[in-house]
Amino acid sequence: MKEKKAKRIVYRSEREMPLMVISVGSQTHNLTGAWRNIRPEIDLEKCLKCGICWKFCPEPAIEIVDERPVVDYDYCKGCGICAEECPAKCIVMAEERK
Ligand code: SF4
Ligand code: SF4
Repeated sequence: MKEKKAKRIVYRSEREMPLMVISVGSQTHNLTGAWRNIRPEIDLEKCLKCGICWKFCPEPAIEIVDERPVVDYDYCKGCGICAEECPAKCIVMAEERK
């Protein structure tokens, strides 16, 4: 049987994305930054200000300030979803500095 490959959808802006539930209120007591061994670093020069990283982040770890993403490392668990989804590929996952 032929293996089916999942189709990857690339969004150019968070406004193109379907509506989804974003629930971070109950997570703010949990400092998931302690789980991290790699950390996202954003090259803001290349950032498209699309907000996709903010929308995909499963923690309350990305805030949009002046249209640009800022990572709150108290909550970033280093999952790498933001880097995977960033259409500009301007987020790299770097080794955590201890
Ligand atoms: S790696 Fe990115 S998506 Fe994952 S928690 Fe940190 S900021 Fe959010
Ligand atoms: S870092 Fe990437 S995903 Fe986040 S706003 Fe900038 S271009 Fe979009």
